Amino acid sequence: MKRAGESQLQRIIRKTGRKPIQCKCKQCQQQCHTPCLATPQDILKLIKAGYADRLAWTDWYAGMLIGVTDHIIGMVQATTVGDWCTFFHDGLCELHDKGLKPTEGRLSHHSMKIDNWTPKKSISWNVAKEWEDADNTPVLEEIIKELKKTKHHDEKENRH
Ligand code: SF4
Repeated sequence: MKRAGESQLQRIIRKTGRKPIQCKCKQCQQQCHTPCLATPQDILKLIKAGYADRLAWTDWYAGMLIGVTDHIIGMVQATTVGDWCTFFHDGLCELHDKGLKPTEGRLSHHSMKIDNWTPKKSISWNVAKEWEDADNTPVLEEIIKELKKTKHHDEKENRH
């Protein structure tokens, strides 16, 4: 349930019990093989910061695997380059100092082990379901509009 005056990040923190944390240990770095999940708002910020070409539409299957949903959730997320998230370089997240790190990456920590993990309280699920929240429809529409512009721009560039 949503609470009046609560931001999206505050709501996800309340539901997951996780707080923003910074850790550069090897175990945490391993998490960057798979791009951390971003909310629609995180993605719109990335697009506006000029990172549209490092993002792509993707189908999120993990929710079905962990039993929190019965369907695939379509969303836009960071792409991968080789075995790593496109924003991971030499052990560091390119977005960290810019304040643009996606919500899952901001809250995730190596101490999250299977024995203290509940699917419904997982960060990934609480971020993923933001893509189906009707309140986020205007943000989704803006993302679609912005990405179409980028595609149009790319197509124009390809013609030259
Ligand atoms: S966006 Fe940053 S924190 Fe998230 S997976 Fe990529 S490199 Fe890691």
